Amino acid sequence: MGLLDVVKPGVVVGDDVTKLLRYAQEHKFAIPAINVCSSSIINAVLEAASKTHSPVMIQISNGGGAFFAGKTIDNKNQKASVVGSLIAAHHVHHLAELYGVPVILHSDHCAKKLLPWLDGMLDADEEHFKIHGKPLFSSHMIDLSEETLDENIRLCKQYLTRMSRVGVTMELELGVTGGEEEGVDNTNVDNNRLYTQPGDVHRTWKELTQISSKFTIAASFGNVHGVYAPGNVILRPEILKNSQQYIRDQEKIPDSAPFPVFFVFHGGSGSEKDKITEAIHYGVVKMNVDTDTQWAYWEGIMNFYKQKEKYLQGQIGNPEGPTKPNKKFYDPRVWLRAGEETLARRVTEAFQDLNCLGKLVK
Ligand SMILES: [Zn+2]
Repeated sequence: MGLLDVVKPGVVVGDDVTKLLRYAQEHKFAIPAINVCSSSIINAVLEAASKTHSPVMIQISNGGGAFFAGKTIDNKNQKASVVGSLIAAHHVHHLAELYGVPVILHSDHCAKKLLPWLDGMLDADEEHFKIHGKPLFSSHMIDLSEETLDENIRLCKQYLTRMSRVGVTMELELGVTGGEEEGVDNTNVDNNRLYTQPGDVHRTWKELTQISSKFTIAASFGNVHGVYAPGNVILRPEILKNSQQYIRDQEKIPDSAPFPVFFVFHGGSGSEKDKITEAIHYGVVKMNVDTDTQWAYWEGIMNFYKQKEKYLQGQIGNPEGPTKPNKKFYDPRVWLRAGEETLARRVTEAFQDLNCLGKLVK
């Protein structure tokens, strides 16, 4: 059975999200989740997925949503982040089917202080559900890893209850991912906290499963947000394996049954490829890619500028003559396109790294 027998092109929601993630876990691949903050970037991600026949995840961060709406809009009560995220979501909805690829539409890290943003998106999911019988987003992330485990679980249960009514999947975070992202700086955090305990995964899994099975867990196993020079933090994917086994043992789930947990790999940029493969074999079904695609987008534009530098110093006048126009070089559709091409190439590389490439081919 091919993947297109399991899910159709377009935004994947409800039970289909679980089916897609289960298919990925069974076939030992993970889907890259690419952060987007503009229509140009969304299109480049869809282009890469379409050309390579691969399923993809598109995710919008709080800051990315605000940027989508425009930098000068007041973000009081998360208004700009909410509206921008909804615009991005609708953009994806209009295009995913045209590009012929299944897309998981997701919102990224949401710390406690940003919950009004999540509330705004959930309002839209409920509204969408009333009209179309399905939510706008496939899934949302709630990141309470800065809180105590009790508080993390308490709020996750509350939100999972709300999400499960409209078929939205929840992603949560356990332990601390190193580095810095969306205003949370964990660069100096104690190394022990960078590794999640199997007992914590089990407790969380058990409490949430009572509400719904539609959740994924980003457990830290030494991963870091962003790209840093090699340091003293070491990726230990076996933590994921141990957690799966611990739950199986505690709950008497046979080894022949699927893994109990869908794991998410945060801070995938710059990770060693063999550790990625190992993590996938322990149940990782999603890997976030942001820093590397940001660089790829910029790299295309930078190289374009370097190549055409003498054509980009004024509207008129270049090596071919002092009256020659340069419009076809500074038109945003030309230089932004250069960024789209290199971004699409980097997304294709992510498909390769995660064994996700070409999974839509029968
Ligand atoms: Zn994270």
